Amino acid sequence: MNILKLTFCSIPDHDMGKANTLVLSMLLTVDSQRLSDKEEFDMLHLDELVGSIYGYGPFEIYTCGCGTAQCAGIWEDITVDQVGDNVLWNVPNPLITFIEGSTYDHFVFDRQQYRQAIHDGLDEAKSMILQHGGSCRVGPYGFTAGQLLQLTTIEPDAVIDRRPQPRHAHVCHGPVFVENRYIARVVKEEIAGRGSSHMWVEAWTGIHWTRETIPSIPMDTVYASKLAPVELLAEAGVPEEPFPFDYELPPLANNRSGIL
Ligand SMILES: [Zn+2]
Repeated sequence: MNILKLTFCSIPDHDMGKANTLVLSMLLTVDSQRLSDKEEFDMLHLDELVGSIYGYGPFEIYTCGCGTAQCAGIWEDITVDQVGDNVLWNVPNPLITFIEGSTYDHFVFDRQQYRQAIHDGLDEAKSMILQHGGSCRVGPYGFTAGQLLQLTTIEPDAVIDRRPQPRHAHVCHGPVFVENRYIARVVKEEIAGRGSSHMWVEAWTGIHWTRETIPSIPMDTVYASKLAPVELLAEAGVPEEPFPFDYELPPLANNRSGIL
């Protein structure tokens, strides 16, 4: 079992030239080791760290002072899983300047210890903020001492779940017979939680439906075409599609370069 520890220390804010301002610096260790010692201190999205106590999927725990992880050379999130009483981490190694073909480290924490470590760390930071009375800089950019004071390790009603979900799609037009040559259809996918959808044209290859229509058939053309007769579809071997149907989601784009 791995042991998590979160600590804070406060130093005068020389950058800002204000003697009255403190900077709260953070250190996160696993078994007393930091995941990267490129910088003197760690820069953490504390709200992500808190979310990871009960959450699933990729968490951007480490970041740059500016709040953009890639700026610090962090290209992949830590993937978090919950199994029984344990919090599991899948961590790219090296964390910073991770390159394709690198390996992953797996850590297993006891959730009670994990939660308590974050709770104790935050308590330490909160008392520093409250004792100081003046202004405290926390970071990353945009994350304030006031926001830190609001953080709690109590289990939320809705845990963060960023695991890949099955995608739901349905045929919204077709199958149609296009230009007396192609059997095509328009598929629409509703993207849950985003209130948006996207549509594309698929063509029947004789074996399966493909989005790689060659030559590409414009959506307008498909919409303007009449529904293909049942006999034609049967002859071409087009199966009756369950309605609606689930698309298999491609592997989760944990690598942030895939999202940008
Ligand atoms: Zn930066």
